[in-house]
Amino acid sequence: MDSINDINKEILKCNRCSLCNYKTNYVPGDGNINSKILFIGEAPGRDEDIQGKPFVGKAGKILTENINHILNIDRKDVYITNLIKCRPPNNRKPTDEEIKACSIWLEKQINILKPDIIITLGSYSTSWIFNYFNIKFNSIMKDRGKVYKINYWNKEIKIIPTLHPASTIYNKEWRAIFDKDFYLIKDLINKNNTGILRYI
Ligand code: SF4
Repeated sequence: MDSINDINKEILKCNRCSLCNYKTNYVPGDGNINSKILFIGEAPGRDEDIQGKPFVGKAGKILTENINHILNIDRKDVYITNLIKCRPPNNRKPTDEEIKACSIWLEKQINILKPDIIITLGSYSTSWIFNYFNIKFNSIMKDRGKVYKINYWNKEIKIIPTLHPASTIYNKEWRAIFDKDFYLIKDLINKNNTGILRYI
């Protein structure tokens, strides 16, 4: 079976959609491959495209702050990726065709990582993950801030949708909602007292 590094190397050669023609770098994902916690965003932005790493710009700063200060976890102990691995020009929203083309990589990644907790950031990754696990998606505002439990990979996994941190940059109310969802994630992690890393 392929490892996450094998998949990420394949992503670096991908030309399944035209976004590869506009990107500076592919952004496959980053973090601890033994983490039980997976964060999934939408697509790389400008800083991510330049550095080839997810969530390293302004939105990434907010995400990292919450991982560090609310969850009390080091960012390098979780795994972070996006639904789309190349930056859409001018940060436009990904098209259905691009999502269809690129989501095969996310599907491979989640089936290797087999996380216990999946946190989706924003409507695009939430809608895709809900569809993948047969959960009805309404809207990010309706569905966020709840724990969805499903049985998969012979275990119970939990999905928690929240806002995309980029949407909270200039909106204090949404930032408060984002923070509140992180306290829910914190409770969930604390209940699972087996740690956040899987040692194999
Ligand atoms: S966005 Fe995804 S499918 Fe499109 S070229 Fe990049 S890696 Fe491949």
